[in-house]
Amino acid sequence: MTKTNLYKKTFTLLLILLFLSLNAQNIKGFKPENVQKQLDLETAFESKISTANLDSWMKKMAARPHYVGTEYGKELAEWMLKQFKSWGYDAKIETYQVLFPYPKVRVLELTEPTTYKAKLTAVPVEGDAYTAQGDELLPSYNAFSTDGEVESELVFVNYGIPADYEALDKLGIDVKGKIVIAKYYGSWRGIKPKLAAEKGAIGCIIYSDPKDDGYVTGDVYPKGAFKNKTGVQRGSVMDMPLYPGDVLTPGYGATPEAERLNRKDAPTITKIPVLPISYEDAQPLLEALGGPVAPDAWRGGLPITYHIGPGPAKVHLKLEFDWQLKPAYNVIATLTGSEFPDEWVLRGNHHDAWVHGAADPVSGMVALMEEARAVGELAKKGQRPRRTLVYCAWDAEEPGLIGSTEWVEHHKGELQEKAVAYINTDGNGRGFFNVGGSHTLQTMVSEVAEVVTDPQKGVSIKERKIARDMVNGGDDKFELYALGSGSDYTPFIQHAGIASLNLGFGGENAGGEYHTIYDTYSHYKRFKDPEFEYGAALSKTAGRIVLRLANADILPFNFDPLRETIATYLEEVMKSCESMRKEVEKHNKLIEENAFYLAADPAKPFVRPEKKENIPYLDFTPIQNSMMDLEATIAKFNAIKLNSLSDKQLEALNKQLMHSELALTNASGLPRRSWYKHQIYAPGFYTGYGVKTLPGVREAIEQKEWQEAREQIKILAQTLNKLDDHIESLCSIPSK
Ligand SMILES: [Zn+2]
Repeated sequence: MTKTNLYKKTFTLLLILLFLSLNAQNIKGFKPENVQKQLDLETAFESKISTANLDSWMKKMAARPHYVGTEYGKELAEWMLKQFKSWGYDAKIETYQVLFPYPKVRVLELTEPTTYKAKLTAVPVEGDAYTAQGDELLPSYNAFSTDGEVESELVFVNYGIPADYEALDKLGIDVKGKIVIAKYYGSWRGIKPKLAAEKGAIGCIIYSDPKDDGYVTGDVYPKGAFKNKTGVQRGSVMDMPLYPGDVLTPGYGATPEAERLNRKDAPTITKIPVLPISYEDAQPLLEALGGPVAPDAWRGGLPITYHIGPGPAKVHLKLEFDWQLKPAYNVIATLTGSEFPDEWVLRGNHHDAWVHGAADPVSGMVALMEEARAVGELAKKGQRPRRTLVYCAWDAEEPGLIGSTEWVEHHKGELQEKAVAYINTDGNGRGFFNVGGSHTLQTMVSEVAEVVTDPQKGVSIKERKIARDMVNGGDDKFELYALGSGSDYTPFIQHAGIASLNLGFGGENAGGEYHTIYDTYSHYKRFKDPEFEYGAALSKTAGRIVLRLANADILPFNFDPLRETIATYLEEVMKSCESMRKEVEKHNKLIEENAFYLAADPAKPFVRPEKKENIPYLDFTPIQNSMMDLEATIAKFNAIKLNSLSDKQLEALNKQLMHSELALTNASGLPRRSWYKHQIYAPGFYTGYGVKTLPGVREAIEQKEWQEAREQIKILAQTLNKLDDHIESLCSIPSK
């Protein structure tokens, strides 16, 4: 070997070593010497996940209807309890007594100008025996509609959201004293009767239009996955944006001895009767409407000309419910941590369904169970997590997040002390990784998504998600969406201030079975995730997240993505204020120039619009200054060297770090809904599941409550200062 050759070889070797050291995986929260051990554990965990278990458990759990209060629901809770115990968990059932209405009388008929009696029944289909279980199938209804009997003229209100009522105002159409018919979609269903009642309507009918959910979207069941003409979406219309959970015990657990509101005083039961129907039942009603032709965007896929009314169609609606307290069975399975038993990583999915619920919620529930089984098996072999894991199977989610909410309310103090984070899943299917939640967890989730493989394309689930986003005009950033509501994370994050995530796969599992008698094992196997590969991917993803939170040297929270995300929300709110101002200026100018009148068709109804109040300038500087301070404090925290900390210091740091989300809450809650404590994320008062970020400020502006907006700006700035103080206190730990 020549000397130059030796130099060359040494140089190449050095380059390789440098390359290897740069590529040594770095995972958030772990000291370099512990990284490989954790990754090996995760690989061992993944190798234990079996799709055969997911398949056979779904077949069992979705065999019969199991809504809250059913014998089969109880049987499943007891079966899950046994399973968790056999996997080494300390498991129990925690029961709450919750109000649940069962439909006793459902009558809907057209009484003028022709007559039609709604069938209100979905038909069994060939090839799916589950749909032929007769009386055991829960009749279609909207839970927490009030009892009532009304008869009046009908008005078609499109989706029944605020913008639709503005359009009706322009046409001079009032729903006062009328019964409205609204399409599903456009908002969470509970908003439709809430808004209709606020506008003076006396009844509300909701139907699935084939354009959104039926033969226009695809072939209908059983030929295809979509809603046939008899399918009806059940669902809760409880006013969850006010507070979710048992309607009689707001803010505290529905234990047998708890004091209960009188049902008449429960503010989350609807003010007017509301009933969901199929498009087969909706067509004769819509066809009988007169009045103006509905605007383009309102028209659905039925072979009729859509009119708005009111009348001459007149309908009679009669609803009566059996209001009973039913036991809700939450299965709670604990695996005590080997080093930090009082630091809890919580993981949950609901087990109750409207009918069979193969997709919603069983597909997520069985993935959680398989994950828990694999983690339990590793623990039995000596690889017990350092922190405690709590696996939860919630009951009564469907009628209003009841099981999880009562449990969180009942154990709130202990949870706020011990919870590190809550990881939620619900229905799952073939497609892309979707994840929302606390932005402090974004970095950790992104790292996990880099190492879980997409079963169809062989790349990481992160790469596939980003590819889809970019193809659809998005960017290449991996970001968590903000949580509104719609599943069991709500009590954890928005009420108790516990960092939370909601994850699942989907996008290639479209169908119309949601909350109908068609959400069965047969439907799932044909259209959702036939080989349970995405069920397994969900077990793997959630399991890795749980194991990282459970074993990290320092809890993997990162404040940078949180601050950056809040900054984008703030910018949005400020911009929306500006565009509201410009809109009002333009509107008022058009009125001064008589433009609305001149542009209107004299053959159509016309209501002269009124001038709008000018939008004042708001002072956002308190929030901007808090954000500036926060940036500096976060940089100081990020400069702490993990390796320089003793075990004692790490422990002290984690004890504080786990309470970071709590700093984003305010004890008095949001205006008009004090149950919601979180100041960054909340479900919208008029959007339901849809999130409102910086909800206090944003909703005050949207509702044009200027004094309230000024107060909420102050409160938000104080909340951000509280977070700043919290991070400042974390920075002082290493010097102790
Ligand atoms: Zn669900």
